[in-house]
Amino acid sequence: MIDSALLKSSAGYIDGKWCGADSGRTMPVVNPATGETIAVVPLMGRDETNRAVEAAAGALKTPAPIAQRRNWLVRLADLVAENRAELGRIITHEHGKPWKEAQGEAEYAANFFRYYAGCVDHLAPKKLTERPRDHGWTVHHRPAGVAALITPWNFPLAMLAKKFSAALAADCPCVVKPSSKTPLSMIALFSLMEQLDLPPGKANLVLGAAGEISGAICEHPAVRVISFTGSTPIGKKLLAATAPHLKRLALELGGNAPFIVFDDANLDSAVNHLMANKFRGAGQTCVCANRVYVQRGVADAFAAKVAERVNALKVGNGMDDGVDIGPLIDRNAFDKVRRHVDDAVSRGAKRVAGVDPVEPKGDHGCFFPPTVLRGVTADMLCVNDETFGPVAPIIEFGDEEEVIAAANATEYGLAAYLFTADDERAQRAIARLSFGHVGHNTGTGPTAEAPFGGMKHSGFGREGGLEGLHDFVEPQTVASS
Ligand code: NAP
Repeated sequence: MIDSALLKSSAGYIDGKWCGADSGRTMPVVNPATGETIAVVPLMGRDETNRAVEAAAGALKTPAPIAQRRNWLVRLADLVAENRAELGRIITHEHGKPWKEAQGEAEYAANFFRYYAGCVDHLAPKKLTERPRDHGWTVHHRPAGVAALITPWNFPLAMLAKKFSAALAADCPCVVKPSSKTPLSMIALFSLMEQLDLPPGKANLVLGAAGEISGAICEHPAVRVISFTGSTPIGKKLLAATAPHLKRLALELGGNAPFIVFDDANLDSAVNHLMANKFRGAGQTCVCANRVYVQRGVADAFAAKVAERVNALKVGNGMDDGVDIGPLIDRNAFDKVRRHVDDAVSRGAKRVAGVDPVEPKGDHGCFFPPTVLRGVTADMLCVNDETFGPVAPIIEFGDEEEVIAAANATEYGLAAYLFTADDERAQRAIARLSFGHVGHNTGTGPTAEAPFGGMKHSGFGREGGLEGLHDFVEPQTVASS
């Protein structure tokens, strides 16, 4: 069991109180590196979720002044930053990523609270300076209603911070549903939030059965916004389930990021960026390069540099010193990554770094050797589906036209990267890439200050930037004579 001052209550949180499941049912939280059960948390369902929504609807009746919201956000940013080591330790225990990387996730989460603390003034009522129709016009930014926030396991703290910071700025009370694989980071955040003295119902935490919880969220009339980060198939299910109830959906879904290296690029820099981008979280991030396109003339040199770096990566328990890559989240993830590598090799790709993985003993301890593949072609699974693992498939290309067409030949449109010394070519290519986030000579991902989100089947809505407030705000215009 994990012992932490931030996990004194391994429970949900409804209407200002920690609580278990009505049924008394529980579910284990397992360390993916060791298979050890590190906590037991409530397995809640429909009734608890309805109560959480009603508590949130109650909180909606008392608007919080802008200054109060700013104070909450600043305090939360400070608390998360001050507790990054312990939050990071909890993230590593439930997710598996290296501790240093997990602390980076906590800092990234804190940035969102701090950024939106600086933005709340944008939500103050605005008077139009002109007087159309001889009226005074005021635009208010009302909270859109109760917001349900559903998050995945791959950034157990940061994915919620993106949503919750914007919701709190907009004064939307929330019902938070984290992944059942990683609920502890959320319990830790809620225990820190006790120091804010939020009104009861402002933030509620339900843990457990996704189907029952999302059923209640989709049907309850008080829920006006559902902000979901996760896989595209579940996003589509939510879209269908909420259609009769006309709820506002923000969907941050899957990706299949191309990473394009032209022959005039600074290869060493491109390799550095690929290493940081691709292998973070053991390749289990929505923005990590899934397909690496390298122009033919530099493919040998680039692949050799990447292979050398990948062979030096240390795989192991994320709490151990010097570990670069932790385990995959579970056996299903491991089987998918292995299927992608086996499929590529059976169709003629060559493994130039990495070895056959050791068969895990059960559902956990699923360590996958970081792998580089060459000779990858468009028909392979690893090109067409999100691998979500530490595999870099290298695909050679001839010219700009060919690589832009290949990069866009996916239903996803989340992140893309391109490396070239030719700025004109870069601008031409970027304009044609159908991806919400593009790294130009960088593999960097999202930041609190900029809107981030997907095109096509990677979803809609944006998180970060002023645009990240839109999903939680209902503009109301008052014309007065
Ligand atoms: P997932 O299986 O879709 O689960 C995401 C969340 O949805 C979890 O909390 C899960 O709960 C819940 N859920 C499961 N079934 C549901 C249902 N029927 N209705 C409502 N919620 C349901 O995704 P994941 O495996 O956790 O995360 C990996 C995926 O997320 C990848 O595709 C990745 O690209 C994507 N992602 C996207 C972004 C982005 O910004 N676009 C960021 C991070 C990750 P349980 O855990 O309890 O099942």
